[in-house]
Amino acid sequence: MEEKYDFARLEEKWRRRWEEADLYRCVEDEERPKKYILVMFPYPSGPAHMGHVANYNLGDVLARYLRRRGMNVLHPMGWDGFGLPAENAAIRSGVHPSKYTWGNIALLKEGLQRLGYSYDWSRELATCDPEYYRWTQWFFLKFYEKGLAYKALAWANWCPSCRTVLANEQVVGGRCERCDTLVEQKALSQWFLRITAYAERLLSDMDQLSGWPESVLTMQRNWIGRSEGCEVTFRVKETGQEIPIFTTRPDTLWGVTFFLLAPEHPLVDELTEGTPYREDVEAFRERLKGVSAIERTSLETEKDGVFLGVHAVNPVNGEEVPIWTANFVLMEYGTGAVMAVPAHDPMDL
Ligand SMILES: [Zn+2]
Repeated sequence: MEEKYDFARLEEKWRRRWEEADLYRCVEDEERPKKYILVMFPYPSGPAHMGHVANYNLGDVLARYLRRRGMNVLHPMGWDGFGLPAENAAIRSGVHPSKYTWGNIALLKEGLQRLGYSYDWSRELATCDPEYYRWTQWFFLKFYEKGLAYKALAWANWCPSCRTVLANEQVVGGRCERCDTLVEQKALSQWFLRITAYAERLLSDMDQLSGWPESVLTMQRNWIGRSEGCEVTFRVKETGQEIPIFTTRPDTLWGVTFFLLAPEHPLVDELTEGTPYREDVEAFRERLKGVSAIERTSLETEKDGVFLGVHAVNPVNGEEVPIWTANFVLMEYGTGAVMAVPAHDPMDL
């Protein structure tokens, strides 16, 4: 006698039974210890594939294990449904991003449900749902009110043909992934969150992470990247503007021999407007097109820059030093202005 094991029929049967029994709904229960098992919300790009299985099996195994250990486990699922991939797909297919995204969510949900994961689907959310992102907006307003959200100039990958900003992943070999146009670096006014306000606390609280590998802790410390120093103000001799710089080495102020501005610093335009130096600045910026911030600051990249025709007055000794703009000075780091001390690394801002 040979009986075939009918996977499809049996899985369907039990999946239905679990669903009817509302087996994985998490309700408050003071008696049992709580556990929150949150897995990364998938981007709804289409039907479930093996990448989802590899990823979500782990979380599900953990959730099931902890339930067996008597814990009250909340294991939710949601969709990371906002973003450029939906926009790209919409452009490609001519389908509205909303229709495309919700269609994919339905497909992926069906796939994950067939896999029998123990999610509490009553808690499902989607980041593209106005009921969800109204809270993101609310958070943003709270950050803004507290001075933690601010606007600043920063480099961005810019496709002149699509007329849009591109994520690093969308730049392939220096070209736009959509249209193959050479990507430019453009200084754009962008929103930032002042995470540096928490650098000190993040660093000191890392002492509480016992049992973590030292390599991970070091990586985190470098990422937090708090540097101690002070702000010093130089004055432009010819025009009188004040330029603040941040230095970790105020003791080297006496050795300053020249002064540098990031190419996208607003003063570069202001100081060279209508002067013979403007042409050099334009040519210099042309050379920087298509060069990323990472390449610009790489040690292998040749240092490049032009004189702006003006001088900075050193506040400690009144000395006048020439002001240049240079490729390795970045607007988003420090104040976008650097004093150069030849005896020390000019990258030490
Ligand atoms: Zn493009």
